[in-house]
Amino acid sequence: MAADPNLAQRLLDGDRRALARAISLVEDDDPDGWALVREVYSHTGKAVTVGVTGAPGAGKSTLIAALVKNRRAEDRTVAVLSIDPSSPFTHGALLGDRIRLTEHFLDPGVFIRSMANRGALGGLSEASLQAALLMDAAGRDDVFLETVGVGQAEVDIIDHADTVVLVLMPGGGDSVQALKAGIMEIPDIIVVNKSDHPMTPTMVREIRGVLSLAPQGPWQVPIVLTEAVDGKGVDELVEQLLAHRTHIEERGTLAERRRHNLRNEVLAIATSRMRRRLEGLFVQDPGFEALIDDVVARRVDPASAAVTILEAAEDVASRP
Ligand code: GDP
Repeated sequence: MAADPNLAQRLLDGDRRALARAISLVEDDDPDGWALVREVYSHTGKAVTVGVTGAPGAGKSTLIAALVKNRRAEDRTVAVLSIDPSSPFTHGALLGDRIRLTEHFLDPGVFIRSMANRGALGGLSEASLQAALLMDAAGRDDVFLETVGVGQAEVDIIDHADTVVLVLMPGGGDSVQALKAGIMEIPDIIVVNKSDHPMTPTMVREIRGVLSLAPQGPWQVPIVLTEAVDGKGVDELVEQLLAHRTHIEERGTLAERRRHNLRNEVLAIATSRMRRRLEGLFVQDPGFEALIDDVVARRVDPASAAVTILEAAEDVASRP
């Protein structure tokens, strides 16, 4: 049970303060946070989750602010989770940065939260996924997950989005290169923001080139031109988001995607806990440091040492 017995209920009722408190618990890796997610998990899976990724400065926050405005006009409740794996700052500092979203701060229909590496004690990936689940449980209709990413996604939260949007800006060739090199997965929708820039047509051509080389699935990745500051192109982006949603629902891809992502999540949590358990063995028993000494001295090879440690962990786990 969570320490505050009413927290789960208040969260399910959509109370913003309860949601904020709950997210802090998972961010602190507090067992109460995990207990809370356990309690409310059966209420999740209803939110429409959109991941927005791209290089810093591409215009993700501005675009999300515009999308939030659009969604609010439809009377849908929204949550935004900004995740910055590169930032050492805690959410206070990061939020101060997010002035683009300030016009929404006072709207009870909008919940905004930032997470940075230092804030999440048990790992940013885990904390951000739990936070997204809590937002979903709190009844938010739309959840936007914003992550900074140019190359390899440092945080795999974006995988948990039902639809992934990559935001590029003209002249920002790195992201196109990352797509080309296969470092970055092909998203569902590509946005070229700041599209009044003269380099826009060149960039669109480059993107088309990359997309034509990628394996062709049943979904044609649209390229949407926006000027987020003026809200230009945002309606079209919303249309494409809805079109993608309909597409994945009709084809059963949504269920498949969620299953695949949840499977990864289960394995990720199990893996990180297993690692913690193994590290715990080293703390409890100096014999394991001696084993490393043997590896260093080339008396035992690394794989054999790993087998010894795994066997010891199994022993510990099977003790009554
Ligand atoms: P993020 O780092 O990807 O979240 O990017 P931001 O949303 O913070 O935007 C970076 C900068 O680009 C800000 O100064 C925005 O005002 C500006 N910006 C965003 N969209 C546009 C646009 O369509 N045109 C122009 N000229 N500037 C934009």
